[in-house]
Parts: sequence; structure tokens; C-alpha cells
Amino acid sequence: MKIKVAVNGYGVIGRRVADAVAKQDDMVLLGVCKVTPDYKALFALKKGYRLFAADEKGVEKFRKMGLDVSGTVADMVREADIVVDATPGDVGPQNKEMYAKASKKAIFQGGEEHDLTGFSFVAQCNYNQALGRQFVRVVSCNTTALCRSLYALDTAFGVEKARVVIARRAADPDEVGRGPIDAVVLDPATLPSHHGPDVKTVLPHINITTMALKVPTTHMHLHSLIVQLKDRTVTVDKVKEVLRHTPRILLVNSKIGVKSTAHTYDIGREIGRERSDIFENIIWEDSLTLEDSELYFFMGVHQEAIVVPENVDAIRAMFNLASSEESIQKTNTALGIKSSIP
Ligand code: NAD
Repeated sequence: MKIKVAVNGYGVIGRRVADAVAKQDDMVLLGVCKVTPDYKALFALKKGYRLFAADEKGVEKFRKMGLDVSGTVADMVREADIVVDATPGDVGPQNKEMYAKASKKAIFQGGEEHDLTGFSFVAQCNYNQALGRQFVRVVSCNTTALCRSLYALDTAFGVEKARVVIARRAADPDEVGRGPIDAVVLDPATLPSHHGPDVKTVLPHINITTMALKVPTTHMHLHSLIVQLKDRTVTVDKVKEVLRHTPRILLVNSKIGVKSTAHTYDIGREIGRERSDIFENIIWEDSLTLEDSELYFFMGVHQEAIVVPENVDAIRAMFNLASSEESIQKTNTALGIKSSIP
């Protein structure tokens, strides 16, 4: 029996998770719930997805626009085995009550507090702790990227301390309401930014401090990392070897012209990814520099895409459908996730 997955909230993350679920052979997309009867609803129907409205009024609104709506969110939840909640941050708590009442499992996103579920997930770090759970939070894009890379480095060499400066995209590409902008904004001025403490919800033993600023771009975040490693015999070649063999991490090199986040986004188009999505952490291999055992590097994060595979893996873990390795492999194959480019 395939797991019936509903997606509540059909924006940046919800649309991508819905498409990713539809590509898996052990789950089916039951339908998606939207508030606004816009072009995104139209395309969902064109893809063959069942559409649900947030409430009865919404059902009327969708029908008036000639959109075929299958019912309300409550109908969708009733039919589903699990709901991926991709509504904006802070809507989760009221939705959690609805899922709990219907005795359904649910996954929330990084805009919600860790306390909403008491468990925060990154597949490579803590898949086994998600086995059988009713509620899971998939952490934010920046936290996912930090956890993947720091977990790999910690497992191989031991992480004494990580210091990270995050240049964040100011808005997603369709968030026109946030622009035009012309400033670099301290996010916030005081330390740490929320990302370091959030990493600790997944990897409590990692010593990390983060600072962040927003820059006027929409496509990606760029992290500058300085990681003090415990292993004093570490070499750059050993680090490259570990990162090259870590799933969902791609090494790129500025020598072949990949010199910016715009270039990595362009690679998404060149390799034929839908929406140009980059699910992998992008690490510049020629930025990997060691001073004694202190490691420096740059890492790019496509905020719209990186958490998508984690949502799929979380579903498998919560229903105990596969081991961590099997699930990561299965998701990677279905989404065309690479271990190297081209
Ligand atoms: P979004 O605004 O693009 O999409 C949210 C969608 O939910 C919208 O279509 C909105 O109309 C709809 N919605 C609002 N209230 C609803 C309700 N009560 N019921 C059903 N639908 C409702 O937001 P997003 O960027 O996709 O973010 C969703 C979650 O994912 C947030 O927790 C966010 O922090 C997290 N996240 C976002 C990004 C990113 O870069 N955009 C990255 C990682 C995680």
C-alpha cells in the first residue's frame, strides 16, 4: 500500500514537495490545499493534482473561478495518511491541532519552532530518530545545509567549533512585495543569528556560532564557514574526499567559471532541473583551505529546493518504510540528485 501524502500550503516549498512526492514509487500525492485561486492552482490541476481549499468560503471562491476543487482542508486531511504542512511559519500550531484531532501524522517546516514537534530532522543526521513519529519538523534551508556539511566533517574529523557568516537572499523570486531593495541588512545585528541554535536542535553537541546578513538577491544564500577540526592530521585532500562521498553535497570549482550563486543557479538550468532547483549543498572545492586544522570554505544554498528531499525522507522514516541509506538513495534517484557535475 502506498502512503497517501497531502500537502497543505502550496507556495515555494509546498509546490516542490508535491512534485517530489509524485515522483516516488512508495507514496502517492493525495492532493494539495491552497488559499488563493490563482495560476498556481490552475497548474496544480493541469498536473492532475486534486485541489482543496482552506475552508468552505475558499471552496466557493475556487468554483467561481472555474477551478475544480475537491473539498476543504478537513476533507483532504481525512483521506490522507500524512500531511506535509508547508504553510507560512507560525500557522503550524493551529494546523497541528487539526492533524492531531484526525489522528494523522504531519511534517512541519523550518519556519515553525522546534518545540512544535520536539524533534527536528535532517535525513543524514538523525533519520533513525524519526522512525514511527507522529510529528516531525524539517529544519530550514540554512540549517539543513549546515547540518549536512558539519555532520560529515564531525564524523570524519571531529568539529571543535564552527563559525559561520551567512549572506541570505532577501526574498524568494516571486516575493515582489519585499522589493525593490538596495541595502545589506544585518539579520540581526546581535549574535548569534537563529541558525546556530537551530543547528543544535539536530546536532546538539556541535559548538557553533552564526551571524547573518540579508543581501539584495533572490536566488541563493551564501555561507562562509570557518571550522576548527579536532583531527590535527587532516589535509585538504582528505576533506575533499569526505565531502565528495557525502550525499547531497556537490563540489564545484571557480576555475571552470562557477564564481557566484548565479552560476550555480545556472547549472540547475543546464542539467535540466525543474525550476532550476539545486537540492544539494554547493561547496567551492577551491575555497577549501586549511590553516593548521582550521578549515575555511564557501557554500551555496538554494533556499527554495534544499529541504525538499528531506521532506520525502521524513515521510519514509515516519512510516518506517526504509533504512536511512535506502531512503536517501531512493529520493536522490527520483529527484536526479547528483554526486558530481556535469
Ligand atoms: P509561501 O508563502 O511561499 O507558501 C505558503 C503557502 O501557504 C501560500 O501559498 C499561502 O497562501 C498558503 N497558506 C497560508 N495560510 C494557509 C492555511 N491556513 N492553509 C493552507 N495554506 C495556507 O511560503 P514558503 O516559502 O513555501 O514557506 C513555507 C514554510 O517553509 C515556512 O515554514 C518557511 O519558513 C519554510 N521554508 C521556506 C524556505 C524558503 O526559502 N522559501 C526554505 C526552507 C523552509
